[in-house]
Amino acid sequence: MLKSWRRLKRKGLAKNDEPIAKKLFIQFDALLVRYEGDKLRISVRPRKFLTINLKYGSYQKRFIEEWRAGRLRVGEVSLNETKILIPFRKDVDLTNPKDWIAIDVNESNVTGVSSNPHILRIETNLREIRSVYFEKRRKIQKLSKYKPLTAERLLRKYSDREKRRIKDLCHKVAKRMVEVAKLNGFGIVMEDLKGMGRRMNYGKRMNRRLHGLPYRKLQSYIEYKARLNGLPVEYVDAKYTSSLCPICGEKLSKAPNGRRLLKCKSCGYEEDRDIIACLNLLKRNPRCGGAH
Ligand SMILES: [Zn+2]
Repeated sequence: MLKSWRRLKRKGLAKNDEPIAKKLFIQFDALLVRYEGDKLRISVRPRKFLTINLKYGSYQKRFIEEWRAGRLRVGEVSLNETKILIPFRKDVDLTNPKDWIAIDVNESNVTGVSSNPHILRIETNLREIRSVYFEKRRKIQKLSKYKPLTAERLLRKYSDREKRRIKDLCHKVAKRMVEVAKLNGFGIVMEDLKGMGRRMNYGKRMNRRLHGLPYRKLQSYIEYKARLNGLPVEYVDAKYTSSLCPICGEKLSKAPNGRRLLKCKSCGYEEDRDIIACLNLLKRNPRCGGAH
């Protein structure tokens, strides 16, 4: 930045003020950075070092352990105002992945469970968005008796806004899921929703409201982004994915101590229903090699 500013100044083209960096960011040459246990040593000038203590959570710890074991390579380290960014690189065969992630899309979240195993849950407010606009439409419809044109205009405005919010949310969630899949070299398994009634039943009124939930849209965004990144996508039969035990195959029932928990009376296995759905999807993937 300074160099180009000075050059422009010499030519008389620069504004008088010195440039201001809005985002402080520095990328280090690989030769300048060394790891010492949980510290990062950066050479600032000959025999002058800056030592930075690395703080990380359990997610990052896995990468660091993999790297110590020689299964990952470290890319170019960079530093911004609050974080040290250490990219890890791994060569993976994307056309024939070793691990798969099953993605279950439901009314309150998107859950991914991988065969290695690894759980990722993204809470979504799809249902809230739907009911907020449902209420708005209901109110506007009352208005339409007196002011039909205004009502029509408002309906169009809110329906466009709702579509946009849902689309944005679907893109964000799909992006995050595919990023994780790509980083780990996962293939993706999802339930085949075509021609299938959803597995939940909320009664007539709620069902009508939920019917329009964009499960297929979200799936198609995930599929599109996955294929763009060379990740294979498989669709498997969705029947009974959240009512059969992924361990022994017996019928599950609601656990007494939790709304979303299901329990197997036969083998005693108990788990969250969305995770169970994912485990069953993984089991059904013909390319997954029976991992669960
Ligand atoms: Zn069981």
